[in-house]
Amino acid sequence: MKILITGGAGFIGSAVIRHIINNTQDEIINLDKLTYAGNLDSLAEVENSSRYTFIQEDICNREAIEDILNQHQPDCIMHLAAESHVDRSIDGPAVFIQSNIVGTYTLLDACLAYWQGLSEENQSNFRFHHISTDEVYGDLGETGLFTEETPYAPSSPYSASKASSDHLVRAWQRTYGLPTLITNCSNNYGPNQFPEKLIPLIIQNAISGKHLPIYGQGTQVRDWLHVEDHARALYCVVTTGKIGETYNIGGHNEKQNIEVVHTICGILEELVPTKPEGVEHYIDLIQYVTDRPGHDVRYAIDASKIEKELGWTPDETFTSGIRKTVQWYLDNQRWCERVLDGSYQGERLGTFSTT
Ligand code: NAD
Repeated sequence: MKILITGGAGFIGSAVIRHIINNTQDEIINLDKLTYAGNLDSLAEVENSSRYTFIQEDICNREAIEDILNQHQPDCIMHLAAESHVDRSIDGPAVFIQSNIVGTYTLLDACLAYWQGLSEENQSNFRFHHISTDEVYGDLGETGLFTEETPYAPSSPYSASKASSDHLVRAWQRTYGLPTLITNCSNNYGPNQFPEKLIPLIIQNAISGKHLPIYGQGTQVRDWLHVEDHARALYCVVTTGKIGETYNIGGHNEKQNIEVVHTICGILEELVPTKPEGVEHYIDLIQYVTDRPGHDVRYAIDASKIEKELGWTPDETFTSGIRKTVQWYLDNQRWCERVLDGSYQGERLGTFSTT
């Protein structure tokens, strides 16, 4: 199978590509604009595979997307390209509207034309898999779980732009018959995540002796899923999911943000007992900062549909996954340094491997 993956240089996209190249015989075309979040270092271990091709392109460029589809003739699309950071969406929503909404529209439009030109057999095998977030469902309150039937109520410009893109995908399926699938996943963590997101930020700041900023009182609840479990779930959906369906993906790991930070500090106490100068305990670096405007209090996923219908379950518990993740950042400080000093956007890592 030949799969076109958009956003494959990002955190989740690169995990999906590593999973597919390492565990299947499929071919991958990675189409990514390489925004600040795109990092080819994360693909070092697969970049020399004859089954992997990288194309730097913007999903908003209709003509270029059409040419790429016609030239490479993919059997399916996994669409992950998006602006993904909530804080950035509050400071500057325009690029979220452009990439997440206009970009998804442009991709759908180009894919529809491509799909209509396929043979009947290839048409029925084709899939457009849109990767989305549980944030489209909004704030859950203290009880309950998001199901695939939960009404949309996004709170931030990021989640509103993702909700819009989900609606466009459903419309292209219902109106034009494009065979689509949608997945809505909870918060991911794991290797190669840009250190503006909570978990890598806390690890990196703690070992550098910097403050650990916590929004409000840190009582917001997120349902954490290891990125490699998400990558497996996405491959399972694109290969065995039912056309037109939505699948929620989650890890049954509800944690308050403050609990996550305490856990990371506890692991670091064990793994890095020699601390930066002036730091007695990592936990002393915690600093409570003004809460994010419109901050949702709780997200939690009911993943029973994908578990029952497609047989996917997560391998990692939060306890096992967070320990591996902390260890990965400690072992891959060069990856982190190159992100922090900006050189990841310039020359390649050479022989350095992120495995
Ligand atoms: P990321 O920010 O790490 O990566 C996004 C990638 O998309 C980057 O490589 C970037 O260069 C690329 N990109 C952005 N705009 C583009 C454009 N216009 N054209 C082509 N490429 C472009 O994001 P991520 O955390 O890997 O998330 C991937 C997808 O999964 C997103 O759609 C996100 O909404 C969704 N998601 C993320 C999470 C999470 O916890 N990170 C959870 C659920 C769903």
